[in-house]
Amino acid sequence: MGDRVGVLIFTPFVLSWLYAEPRFNTSAKLALLGATLYSLLLAALVFDVLQVKWPLDYGISALVPFLVAILFRYGQRLIFTVQVAVLSLAVIATCSGSGPFVAATTWESLIQLQSFTAAISIILFLVAILNLEKSSNEAYLEKRTKELEELYRKDALTGLWNRYRIEEFLHLELERLKRDHMQFGVFFIDIDDFKIINDTHGHLEGDRILCELSELILHNVREIDVAGRRGGEEFIIISSNTNQNNIRVIANKLLSEVRKNDFGLPEKVTISIGGTIGQHDDTELSIINKADQALYESKYCGKNTASFEFTKPR
Ligand code: GH3
Ligand code: MG
Ligand code: MG
Repeated sequence: MGDRVGVLIFTPFVLSWLYAEPRFNTSAKLALLGATLYSLLLAALVFDVLQVKWPLDYGISALVPFLVAILFRYGQRLIFTVQVAVLSLAVIATCSGSGPFVAATTWESLIQLQSFTAAISIILFLVAILNLEKSSNEAYLEKRTKELEELYRKDALTGLWNRYRIEEFLHLELERLKRDHMQFGVFFIDIDDFKIINDTHGHLEGDRILCELSELILHNVREIDVAGRRGGEEFIIISSNTNQNNIRVIANKLLSEVRKNDFGLPEKVTISIGGTIGQHDDTELSIINKADQALYESKYCGKNTASFEFTKPR
């Protein structure tokens, strides 16, 4: 029975050290050191190894719930190390004749020691099982959260950022403008006469044009710029660290790239652009209004063109 108990105690200990815990960082190492030292001290007092009467005995025992909480938080490696430390000390102390399990016969001592070992092991195994369950739940939740975040932030058809994410970017750019005085540009892009394309060639072809245009937009913005779909056949680009001149250059380049591109339809696909720049008094709403105004002007002027609105926010 002693051998079996030994196997039960040492197997998880060895395995927990052989297979790295996912997050054995500095705080886990400190927790390991603290938990092991504390449980050794506690065991040394219980088994009278230090041979001193400490007035703090009860105070030290009162910390046991904290030890269990730390073991639960940091997992297998801590749990089984503490188990080996405490039980080894119990065996050594009892064999050398000190502690509560020293009885009239060796047989009696052994029974008491093994009962103690079984009790401690069961408690610690339980903590280990609960911790394992907690970790696997956390890993599952982390994975699902990542997937949901992607879904929540990306446009399903084009893979570009969706309007909620774009609003977050806009907010960040406004903060940066206020903090670092870094100007940024916003473009609204709208496909011209998209309804006719849809009506003539069907919705699937319409979807294909939306995806192709998304690719084209992504190819023509810088790494630091963000592109998203506002909805329908409307797109938005937020261009960091730029100025009025750059905005005009980027918009004209986009217009000509779309004109040149072969979308595989008999008619030409064109876009209209409304561009603006974020200024100090701007809010998300005022920027959107300015870009909208500029886009409206492009449509009003006959489409397939870019207009800009650089006035102060109203
Ligand atoms: P304008 O030049 O003034 O922008 O005219 P337009 O026809 O492009 O604009 P309008 O707002 O009249 O029509 C937009 C069309 O876009 C109508 C709608 O059916 C289509 N649409 C919106 N979302 C999608 C989509 O996800 N896929 C497809 N295929 N069509 C869409
Ligand atoms: Mg539109
Ligand atoms: Mg349109």
